[in-house]
Amino acid sequence: MEISHEAAFYETSPDGRVVCSLCPHDCRISDGGRGACGVRYNCAGKLYTLVYDSVVARTVEVVSGSWWKKGKGVIIERVG
Ligand code: SF4
Repeated sequence: MEISHEAAFYETSPDGRVVCSLCPHDCRISDGGRGACGVRYNCAGKLYTLVYDSVVARTVEVVSGSWWKKGKGVIIERVG
């Protein structure tokens, strides 16, 4: 698995900083710096993420319903 992956939702400004628009922090990150989240960083005017395709939460939820065998669990994963 790749350690970092180019991020989505950013623009590069003429001074080399990147402006990330993924969340309301709207970080303006200088070359070599990281955003407030600590997982997105600027490398030579490109924004990379350290958590691409990583599972951030895993739970087992009980599903009940007439068409579904009562009490059967499903695994729900959230990918960051
Ligand atoms: S906190 Fe992270 S995701 Fe949010 S704007 Fe800053 S760099 Fe982007």
